[in-house]
Amino acid sequence: STRVNRDELTAWDRDHFFHPSTHMAGHARGDTANRVVTGGSGVRIEDRDGKVSLDAFAGLYCVNVGYGQTKIADAIAEQAHKLAYYHAYVGHGSEPAIKLSRMIAERAPAGLNHVYYGLSGSDANETNIKLVWYANNILGRPEKKKIISRWRGYHGSGIMTGSLTGLELFHNAFDLPRAPILHTDAPYYFRRTDRSLTEEAFSQLCADNLEALILKEGPDTVAAFIGEPVLGTGGIVPPPQGYWQKIQRVLKKYDILLIADEVVTGFGRLGSMFGSAHYGMEPDLITIAKGLTSAYTPLSGVIVADGLWKVLEQGSDKLGPIGHGWTYSAHPLCAAAGVANLELIDELGLVDNARDVGAYFRQSLAEALGDHAMVGEVRGEGLLAAVEFVKDKDGSKGGPVFFDAALKVGPQVAASLLERGVIARAMPQGDILGFAPPLCLTKAESDEIVAATKGAVEAIA
Ligand code: PLP
Repeated sequence: STRVNRDELTAWDRDHFFHPSTHMAGHARGDTANRVVTGGSGVRIEDRDGKVSLDAFAGLYCVNVGYGQTKIADAIAEQAHKLAYYHAYVGHGSEPAIKLSRMIAERAPAGLNHVYYGLSGSDANETNIKLVWYANNILGRPEKKKIISRWRGYHGSGIMTGSLTGLELFHNAFDLPRAPILHTDAPYYFRRTDRSLTEEAFSQLCADNLEALILKEGPDTVAAFIGEPVLGTGGIVPPPQGYWQKIQRVLKKYDILLIADEVVTGFGRLGSMFGSAHYGMEPDLITIAKGLTSAYTPLSGVIVADGLWKVLEQGSDKLGPIGHGWTYSAHPLCAAAGVANLELIDELGLVDNARDVGAYFRQSLAEALGDHAMVGEVRGEGLLAAVEFVKDKDGSKGGPVFFDAALKVGPQVAASLLERGVIARAMPQGDILGFAPPLCLTKAESDEIVAATKGAVEAIA
């Protein structure tokens, strides 16, 4: 086939392609990248102009097994030749969908054994809310419906999931519903206002504030709490010491379900198969997406715990088949990609690699940047890491160390890094540079990212 001319492609893009999360007028003017990515292998992508970059954010923290894995491509092709599609309604299914369900249940924390499929993290979280509401209707407590999320949490961009997301950019301009969604504290120890608090004391404060909110609203009106094991898009913030234990104590006391949003953390990102297991969380529902197929196809899911499952079963006996389904639930091509992806994660030992190379990467990053005057904190877990920039590291300029509004070097560092051949993400809120490389990262590739980041930070200063 003939290759479309570069100028023509650029014009078509600017005229017709409505890009997500993009400055629309700026893109039309030519301010944004207009980078056409054509190939990838391992941790690297290549664009149409032949420029190769080390993708230290794995797309949108999703290409966990790395680019160009033929095992997954072959599995999708093979399934497409056999049976591209059949639906999963009223008990139908395909072999890969059944096999994948078994594989997920084997890998999930104990007691989470039932998987509902969607295509995006957003739709999976919509499913979560519906299941929680449905269950409380079946249990005869129709007033117990409010969902508590956290400021800086990210749970999607749908109408209800955009409301769950605690980043104002994602709701302010859209009139998204506030009720029945409530927000509580982000577990962001680095930005605590009382600098004297220990991590444990700060976690206790978060739990106390959560309890106060529940009591103010009335425990009989609060159905569920949703949180990412490690805050992702809100700043890549691992929980402070004791956080999940203290939060769960409050939730159990008031019979409130826990939804662990593991869209980013599921399938190895933190160096454990699931973030819930990593932090001793006991969720009733787990949201999965990204790492489930390493984004070779879209696929998400909700893993339901046995206790909640029993209630859902009672619901069908009472009301008939559940009135919730997507045409593409458990799509055979996506399920085939999921099976091959989970096999590959095991074959390549990627969960252990994320733990070991992750520790090496975060330590190297801290050694290279920790003392820099603009760097307030280097943090993370497994192969998820962040560098937070600050205006006044030691307080000598009179500002609090966690002050973020004025400096905004993250986007500049990201741009400079890209010129050095490495992709990191300037996170959408705060002044934070995020890293989430493919889980197949080697120590040599880690050194490459760290050296480039050091160069980029020093070039700004
Ligand atoms: N939940 C979390 C924790 C996420 O990070 C994301 C996306 O980044 C989502 C949900 C939404 O997933 P999607 O973009 O596939 O709808």
